[in-house]
Amino acid sequence: MRARIEAAARSAGRDPAEVRLLAVSKQQPADVVRAAAEAGQREFGENYLQEARAKLASLRDLSLSWHFIGQLQGNKTREVAEDFQWVHTLDRGRIAQRLNDQRPHHAGPLDVLLQVKLAEEAGKGGVSPDEIDSLAEIVAGLPRLRLRGLMCIPPPETEVERQRAWFRRTRELADDLNRRGHSLDTLSMGMSADLEAAVAEGATIVRIGTAVFGPRD
Ligand SMILES: *Cc1c(COP(=O)(O)O)cnc(C)c1O
Repeated sequence: MRARIEAAARSAGRDPAEVRLLAVSKQQPADVVRAAAEAGQREFGENYLQEARAKLASLRDLSLSWHFIGQLQGNKTREVAEDFQWVHTLDRGRIAQRLNDQRPHHAGPLDVLLQVKLAEEAGKGGVSPDEIDSLAEIVAGLPRLRLRGLMCIPPPETEVERQRAWFRRTRELADDLNRRGHSLDTLSMGMSADLEAAVAEGATIVRIGTAVFGPRD
């Protein structure tokens, strides 16, 4: 997997070290994650809290970095604030406030990405581009959260040029925020099917499930 990311970075004229692999381990049992950790993978992404909690508990001895990439529900923020180092899917001020209030003090600030809604699609979360500024202001004002960047899940596209257009839009939104005084250093974009397009447009984290672990049920 690392070889594919490195090839994508090189052909985009980027340093491969700028692109991190987040191994998306949803539906994978703890022993599969443990094997990946033993092979050197440190960062893992989970979507479903109930599934993640048991897995995280049984892998606690490994000191891995866990990223929450599923839809955030207001009544489930405590588990995320307590067990994860990163959240990729923040899209509402009310949830930002709860995560801030529930982040344990021994843990250090929670690293946060705002999920951007690039197109109107039923069932997908995200903040619309015209509301990003105000959400970024709210998050920047919360001491237990650290605003690190943006994340997107674009509509499925088969053509690379169309894939790239969604990722480029996300990068431009991050650039806009930085021009207004934020210091975002992270773009979480690209999955198994479109990571090359995402890396070409500046992704710093690619979220890969199938291409790491094989197909899910
Ligand atoms: C499942 C999932 C992924 C990984 O998808 P693959 O196509 O298996 O690489 C990445 N990001 C999110 C938000 C996901 O839910």
